[in-house]
Amino acid sequence: MYWERDSETMPRDRLEELQLTRLRETIERASKAPFYEKAGLRDYSISSVSDITKLPFTTKQDLRDAYPYGMISVPLEEVVRLHSSSGTTGIPTVVYHSRGDIQRWTELVCRCLFMIGVRKHDVFQNMIGYGLFTGGLGLHYGAERLGCLTIPTGPGNTKRQLKFMKDFKATVIHVIPSYALHLADTLESMGIVPKDEFPNLRSAILGAEPHTEETREKIENFFGIQAFNSYGLSEMNGPGVAFECPEKNGMHIWEDAFLVEILDPDTLKPVGTGEHGELVITTLSREAMPILRYRTKDLTSIIEDPCPCGRSHRKIVRITGRSDDMMILKGVNIFPMQIEAVLNGMKHVGRNYQIILESRGHNDHMIVKVEVDSSLSIEDYKALESLRANIVRELRDEILISPEVVLCEPGGIPVAQGKAVRVLDNRSI
Ligand SMILES: [Zn+2]
Repeated sequence: MYWERDSETMPRDRLEELQLTRLRETIERASKAPFYEKAGLRDYSISSVSDITKLPFTTKQDLRDAYPYGMISVPLEEVVRLHSSSGTTGIPTVVYHSRGDIQRWTELVCRCLFMIGVRKHDVFQNMIGYGLFTGGLGLHYGAERLGCLTIPTGPGNTKRQLKFMKDFKATVIHVIPSYALHLADTLESMGIVPKDEFPNLRSAILGAEPHTEETREKIENFFGIQAFNSYGLSEMNGPGVAFECPEKNGMHIWEDAFLVEILDPDTLKPVGTGEHGELVITTLSREAMPILRYRTKDLTSIIEDPCPCGRSHRKIVRITGRSDDMMILKGVNIFPMQIEAVLNGMKHVGRNYQIILESRGHNDHMIVKVEVDSSLSIEDYKALESLRANIVRELRDEILISPEVVLCEPGGIPVAQGKAVRVLDNRSI
């Protein structure tokens, strides 16, 4: 049941020793990158992993400032691949990998897949974007290494996607949760029962997008499968950073490859045991581009309790949002996930929603577009009005302001090819 038994079940004291050794090596290696060279990294003395707090942070802005080659710590001829953020807003952030980095990344992904029962006889349909984005290639390499028949469909082209799932008898899919819900809508509108159409489908890996427990349940119930939460970010390779085991209660973060801190996003001091804060990660095994104390902006907490699955690497809870995603409206802090959780808990509410922020005079105004599901007739005005009023009330209880709620018919909100665009901030600053 373990891909790398010794590493995955290593006793905590040995794991911490290994972390210390690797942290020292990482600092040594990082100090060769022009960006860290400036920071004078060699001067730090590290006698335990908790000395990590002496080191400087690295932010997304630092990676942009170091563009294009300022973060590389090995000769360029040792670099075999780069991945990059989309760069739609200014300078992209670029991450480099040596051959060894790709191999280690692949092994980490194998641990994740093996952990949830993926084996070489599986047919793995990878519906996540290939190319500069890390999600597609990251899982692809792992699935191939395990020996799965790996189908690189990438996202979109729903008709072909469903045809391939059926014809090649996919057993495992890797999918963005909002796209899984779109597939569900499409199947429902075609009157297709998933268990009849895809009798071999067993598991879905949900990645690239924070989502609620309710969204997972919707996907599991609709397809009649198990769905597992996958966490990663391109700065830390991509997928394969943290992943749910069959317990489905938090994601094991591979602590021999990543040193984890949870900090208060305002003070940047460690939070108390089990408390929520910003995830800050240091790479422990990357050669081409080691990163120290990377501020992920993702909000989570650590589960300290040992996991019944026997893995000694600690778990982080489902990401509840990004400190970047926080909307401030009329002085109130609101996360899109709070709105998703409310909508998910309501009857007659469909699978897709969108939040639009506007300025009206000097005031902020929030519009929440919500798809209704097919159980409600779009002509039943009385029922629609009562649903609308209900949603406003429930949202007000959760986020303390009353948004304008607009109901749309199923499929009325456009579906993005990649990550869903949940918030459109059209406010004038
Ligand atoms: Zn576990």
